[in-house]
Amino acid sequence: MVRPKKYLGQHFLKDENIASAIASSLTFHKAYRHLLEIGPGTGVLTRHLVNIPLDKLYLIEVDDESVRYLQQKLKDPQVELHSGDFLKLGALFFTNLPLGIIGNFPYNISSQIFFKILENYQQIPEIVCMVQKEVGQRLCADEGSKVYGILSVLLGAHYEREYLFTVPPEVFYPPPKVESSVIRFRLKENHSLPCDKKLFAKIVKQSFQNRRKTLRNALKQLNLPPGMVSETIFDLRAEQISIAGFIELVTKIEKQWKIQ
Ligand code: SAH
Repeated sequence: MVRPKKYLGQHFLKDENIASAIASSLTFHKAYRHLLEIGPGTGVLTRHLVNIPLDKLYLIEVDDESVRYLQQKLKDPQVELHSGDFLKLGALFFTNLPLGIIGNFPYNISSQIFFKILENYQQIPEIVCMVQKEVGQRLCADEGSKVYGILSVLLGAHYEREYLFTVPPEVFYPPPKVESSVIRFRLKENHSLPCDKKLFAKIVKQSFQNRRKTLRNALKQLNLPPGMVSETIFDLRAEQISIAGFIELVTKIEKQWKIQ
């Protein structure tokens, strides 16, 4: 057996029903044929994925001991096992073919995984994953909620987000200190932004980094023209602005800069 390592966020699922429920949450929205599992560990979830008719099932696992274990156990021809850190090797999997992503993510790096996903979102039609419960709630939150934040907006701009179910600590070995959640993101039909993606991310980040301030104060550094910042949206705080509101705002700012 593989000895769980805390520093790698290893909590192995021991409940086959939960593993099966996670695997069957994939809907194959937009009919992709390649799937990537991040952090397969000892393959509890993987065993429910190998029966799905896919052209390729990529696995990326950073723990050598788990990799050796999986090499012995998994002989399916469509499986391609990679040893390494997803945050460093992610680009390997982003070719021009649509790729679904699944995993019981290592909780300590789940936000970083999502920022990596966002860099390549156009190619990723669906994500089903398990994260810490509060993170799942945050990623799926809308304006007006205390937990609405940067990733809620950046992901929500491209994806339909769904909080599917909560998972208790007892179904893992060793049990984590927190509850978990399974969430699903599906690429929207109309997923591209009418404004520059980098500018959008920059303005959303600046707005939430000063979440207690009105946009007028939070975005002071941008030196927007007085005529623009007198508009009522600038009286609001980031957590009061919908995703559509942010898209509209950044598109306006971008237009204004093009005129100048
Ligand atoms: N899917 C398994 C294990 C989940 S625990 C199960 O449900 O039982 C999270 C897994 O992610 C661990 O196996 C851990 O080694 C792996 N991991 C941690 N950091 C990683 C990284 N940067 N890249 C790839 N895998 C990682």
